[in-house]
Parts: sequence; structure tokens; C-alpha cells
Amino acid sequence: MKIIRDDKVKVIAGNNKGKIGKVLKVIVDKNKVIVEGVNIVKKHQKPNQMNQQGGIIEKEAPIHVSNVMLVCSNCDKAVRVSKRRTEDGKVERICRSCNKAV
Ligand SMILES: [Zn+2]
Repeated sequence: MKIIRDDKVKVIAGNNKGKIGKVLKVIVDKNKVIVEGVNIVKKHQKPNQMNQQGGIIEKEAPIHVSNVMLVCSNCDKAVRVSKRRTEDGKVERICRSCNKAV
């Protein structure tokens, strides 16, 4: 996965195309991400001890990782990234637009 938690991403396909948000969660085995404020669905919640009334809650639903692109923190564009191993063995993601580590 090239996207990790707390990344800023832009949605490039689907109903939420063009929206930008922060990655709240990455679901690695399903190749999906949950992005803050993107793909909001309404869910009916049954009454429980916390919420006697029940009702409708709004929650972000996961979207496929291929529908988002990383927004580079340097050049502020939605970019493709490549991976590079640094001298001390860490993996860095490199923006293909400005060639800086994201
Ligand atoms: Zn960049």
C-alpha cells in the first residue's frame, strides 16, 4: 500500500471525485481506505445503552485505494509516488512531480 494513515489524499473517481481529506484508516487486506469527510453514509442505529433513542448516524464508508491519489505535502498536487529505500534501510515515498520525499 502506498497510502498510509494520516496521509492527505484526493479522490479521483466515483461519487466523491475531487474531494480531499485525511486518511483515517487503511484496511490493508481489502485495499480500502477510510477518508475523513468522504463517502459519508447514513446508518440506522438501534437503540442501545449509550443511545436510548437510536437513530441515524453518519459515518465514512471505505473506498478503494485505486480511487484516491496521494496529495504531496511539498507541491500540494495529487501525485503518483515511487518507493525508494534510504541508506539506513527505511522506505521513502518519492513524489514523481517534485521528486521530494512525501
Ligand atoms: Zn510533490
